[in-house]
Amino acid sequence: MKSVYMDHSATTPVDPDVFNAMIPYYTDIYGNASSVHSQGQKAHRAVEQAREQVAALIGASAGELIFTAGGTEADNQAIITFMTQEHQKKGKHIITSAIEHHAVLHTCEFLTKFGFELTVLPVNSYGTVEPDTLREALRPDTALVSIMHANNEIGTIEDIKSLVDISHEVGAAFHTDAVQTVGKIPVNVKELGVDLLSASGHKLYGPKGIGILFAKKGIRIGSYLHGGAHERNLRAGTVNVAGAVGFGKAAELAGQRLPQNIAHLKELSQRLTSGILDSIPNSRLTGHPVNRLPGSVSVVFDYVEGESILLMLDSYGIMASSGSACTSGSLDPSHVLLAIGLPHETAHGSLRLTMGKDNTEDDVDYVLEKLPPIIKNLRLMSPLGQ
Ligand code: PLP
Repeated sequence: MKSVYMDHSATTPVDPDVFNAMIPYYTDIYGNASSVHSQGQKAHRAVEQAREQVAALIGASAGELIFTAGGTEADNQAIITFMTQEHQKKGKHIITSAIEHHAVLHTCEFLTKFGFELTVLPVNSYGTVEPDTLREALRPDTALVSIMHANNEIGTIEDIKSLVDISHEVGAAFHTDAVQTVGKIPVNVKELGVDLLSASGHKLYGPKGIGILFAKKGIRIGSYLHGGAHERNLRAGTVNVAGAVGFGKAAELAGQRLPQNIAHLKELSQRLTSGILDSIPNSRLTGHPVNRLPGSVSVVFDYVEGESILLMLDSYGIMASSGSACTSGSLDPSHVLLAIGLPHETAHGSLRLTMGKDNTEDDVDYVLEKLPPIIKNLRLMSPLGQ
């Protein structure tokens, strides 16, 4: 049976070149990067080279990055350690948006248990945070604004630069969760103007379990994990050398391939989106029609249930998701789809197809062959669809 993987926003396969670059750091150069012997020093140099590679992809200096165990940890560290230090100077107010990944949303909510105050901004029907909404929410005691660069479920890309400018006018720092954008669209920390940024290796053909937190020079963050003096005292724990090397190589390759990948994915997305909307009645695209991640096609179908679509697609070898990979398994509709104003019933019928560099027109046509009859049959079985 044909196998079509269209769940690249959940994770990507490790690129063979990335895998090959990592192998020696498991087999030959397995030293601890903190050790003084030659093995340790080789490992240390490899980590520093990787830091340079990731920094180059996002226009940062290597000294502004620390390696973490992924996007979730980077988000937690950025928000918790910045707020616990900065509130003494600026205040206890944080602003975030209603469509953030739970790594941000739940972290901000966690802080409210300790006296921090949180404002969760609504978004418009495209999932865009409107500048005026942010302007009205900012207060003299707002220390941090955390708004994602692009949404993992509906693909909408936010106008981070404008949101940063508005926040900086009142002296609030800005964090962006760029887990879905780094390696997929151009991301430059200087052009965006952000103070803090999180990214993750496994979304750009690197390994799982490795991420980075960018903290602009002069921005005070602290250690979130306590222990040794690794990562300039900012992230205790033996450094994941092979993971860092893999992330570095993935970043280098992503930078080289960015224009061609974007062009390829835009073409595939157009074909898939119009194919779905033209052939399936009562279907619509979610997220912004233009300002969206190049390979992301997110749709909702009336009168069907997302989980059933996934199971049927999987029986044909098509792997996709409904809402976020992290929330599937729960029966609640996705908080993102509710935040863009979809009614509960519609939000339940969501499908996210996220393509990657190796998907082809054939893959798209295969999905377009299988999906319409699946929806038709599910609607025939559903009391709502009849
Ligand atoms: N932020 C966003 C927007 C994501 O999509 C994800 C993963 O799906 C994460 C954070 C978490 O990243 P990680 O899996 O590296 O912990």
